[in-house]
Amino acid sequence: MGLIADRMAVLGTENAFKVGEDIARAEKRGLDVVRFTLGEPDFASPSNVNQAGIDSILKGNTHYVDPAGTAPFRKTVADYVSRTRQLDVQPDRVVALPGAKPGIGYSMMSYVNPNDEVIYPSPGFPIYESWVTFVGAKPVPLHLRQEKHFAFEPGELEALITPKTKLIILCSPSNPTGGVLSRQVLEGVAKVIKEKCRPDVRVYSDEIYERITYDGFQHDSIASLPGMEERTVISSGHSKSFAMTGWRIGFAVLPTAEEARLFKQININIVSCVPPFVQEAAREAFENPETDRAVEQMVSQFKARRDFMVPALNEISGVRCNKPLGAFYLFPNVDGLCRQLGIHDYFEGLPAPAQATTSPSTLLMRFLIYQHGVAVVDRRSFGAIGSAGQHFVRISIATDLDTLKRGIERIRKAAGDRDGFSAFTRDREAVGVAS
Ligand code: PMP
Repeated sequence: MGLIADRMAVLGTENAFKVGEDIARAEKRGLDVVRFTLGEPDFASPSNVNQAGIDSILKGNTHYVDPAGTAPFRKTVADYVSRTRQLDVQPDRVVALPGAKPGIGYSMMSYVNPNDEVIYPSPGFPIYESWVTFVGAKPVPLHLRQEKHFAFEPGELEALITPKTKLIILCSPSNPTGGVLSRQVLEGVAKVIKEKCRPDVRVYSDEIYERITYDGFQHDSIASLPGMEERTVISSGHSKSFAMTGWRIGFAVLPTAEEARLFKQININIVSCVPPFVQEAAREAFENPETDRAVEQMVSQFKARRDFMVPALNEISGVRCNKPLGAFYLFPNVDGLCRQLGIHDYFEGLPAPAQATTSPSTLLMRFLIYQHGVAVVDRRSFGAIGSAGQHFVRISIATDLDTLKRGIERIRKAAGDRDGFSAFTRDREAVGVAS
């Protein structure tokens, strides 16, 4: 009998947090590292929201509350989701969660048995793949391609659906690609799901970036389409739209009150409830139009950064970057860059066990951190299964323009530093490959 339970061997992680360890090591060596790794807005939460949270604490709203969420919170969310998705959601289908992340695991626990199949976007938020393997289900990545602006054809989804499919995860706007699913794509997806899936197959629609869109693109939820509300778990929250990542507040809207009770029961088993003053602050964010102005200002800054960064990246030889319509990430193709730096050749020369633990974009990520002081996140960190041969990195633009300019300059310099890459390959700690 070992110390650690067997199931922990298949629990994944979120590398955007782990890359921090390499950044810290590089900094200890004396390097200054520009971070393009942040998965959160670099803005403060809106002051009216902060005040609502403080006021609520001062009123003594500091005790356990309903594990499903307070009645006012659930009513506010039901009204907000009804208004923004043209639905008629009742509060008994809403559950308050500590962030949008828990809804992923809660859905796997509630709907997915071992050996069921779960379809999820890849590249995608790594927690999807982590939970699929953790519950012993079969991971079925739906590969998103740059040529399609990281959306997909409904036919590509259809080809993955089998009688064992139990859960289908969608994410728009997407982390890490910034890609979005248009109304037209969603209509095709809904048609495929209604034709090919039993009514008890659920769609998990991760809409956490719903308010962060550009160039007039309007977020649509698949739940708004005919026949989809009863099959869809809508997941969203305040982390990204209102720069409230540390508050830990999100919600899920379940197809039925009965399913919402399952999520409530998991809350009871794990967190008891979301802090009541946090729920009050979250209500303020939805109800006070002042917050909308804060969101607009934040999004316009993200847009200005995107409009600077995309052309700047495309000027670097070996880099091809799309202009995303949502979220605050860029996901450039770095195949050419890996080729010109000799990364592909080095990777090909590694023994198979070492190859299994890294990838060309991982080596590029480490080279950029340890040799050039700029941190991005590699493709493997967004769903490793089936990712071989895909050479991308994620760049977060949730950082100010001056920092972006400094970082892009470092990437430009790195792109011409073939000798630097050879030197890097002799630095075992930096390369980070088991040998
Ligand atoms: N879904 C996606 C696609 C995300 O990118 C994130 C955060 N990086 C989450 C869910 C989790 O959000 P939260 O911090 O609200 O739990």
